[in-house]
Amino acid sequence: MNLISVKDYVKLRKEEIKKEIISLLRKPKLVIIQMNDDVASNSYVKGKLKDAEELGIDASLIKLDESLNEEQLLKIIDEVNNHETVDGLIVQLPLPKHISESKIKESINPKKDVDGFHPLSKFKACTPKGIISYLTYLGFNFVGKNVVIIGRSNIVGRPLAKLLLDLSMNVTVLHSKTSIEDRNFYLKHADLVVLAVGKPYLLTKDVPLKKDAILVDVGISRLDGHLVGDIEPREDVLLQTPVPGGVGLLTRLSLMENVLEAYEDGISC
Ligand code: NAD
Repeated sequence: MNLISVKDYVKLRKEEIKKEIISLLRKPKLVIIQMNDDVASNSYVKGKLKDAEELGIDASLIKLDESLNEEQLLKIIDEVNNHETVDGLIVQLPLPKHISESKIKESINPKKDVDGFHPLSKFKACTPKGIISYLTYLGFNFVGKNVVIIGRSNIVGRPLAKLLLDLSMNVTVLHSKTSIEDRNFYLKHADLVVLAVGKPYLLTKDVPLKKDAILVDVGISRLDGHLVGDIEPREDVLLQTPVPGGVGLLTRLSLMENVLEAYEDGISC
């Protein structure tokens, strides 16, 4: 296996994407709608705009007042949905409490839903897609291997489980109701472990794992003023993705890949 770091992998992929975009007839266009002034959201949006600029994607932000009602938001989404030269549209979460998240997700044109949230979206959800692309690049052989996914959310655990099952892995999904004894039993046999919970160092380094296991840490939490993941750093496995500088970068990369794909699909139909 080629144990390249996430950072180096992302750098390499960005160079490839940049070259591809230069050769296009026009720049792919992404619209981000944000209806909050949340510190974390502001920082995620800033990161997405920065990535887009670096790669030659034309990204713009529509920042809306939190007092707008659902109908007004749906109208704006509809306009972007029907805008011919917009390839991708994302609505930054969280939304204010008076807006139905599922209704908004379902209102995005599936052909432009580059976050992969719409049930009919033709795009893979960004975090699972990024994890699988990275593992594929490493040369990880998915077929018949055991994966334990901890966390069953609609944006990470569940879509990842489906994609890994499609790759013929033996998939075990654990969650908040799983006992520690059962969790540790399954972990002992895992070739791949993915944590997407959001609890600092939930998986402590004393839990026995296979020596050649790969650990993918999706969780991001703040602990004593630092960003940390769900997995305590350890040396006794083949590879562990860091936090920060791990899955977050892969997620951002996947979004840009999806925008490019949306552009290419739009041109070819
Ligand atoms: P979520 O809150 O929707 O889901 C958390 C899941 O963890 C739930 O399914 C729950 O059953 C499970 N869980 C809770 N406590 C548990 C426990 N003690 N043992 C086992 N399972 C437990 O969260 P989410 O949206 O999937 O995000 C999870 C974490 O990943 C968060 O820290 C989030 O910030 C981070 N995240 C990072 C990225 C990235 O790009 N790096 C992307 C998405 C989410």
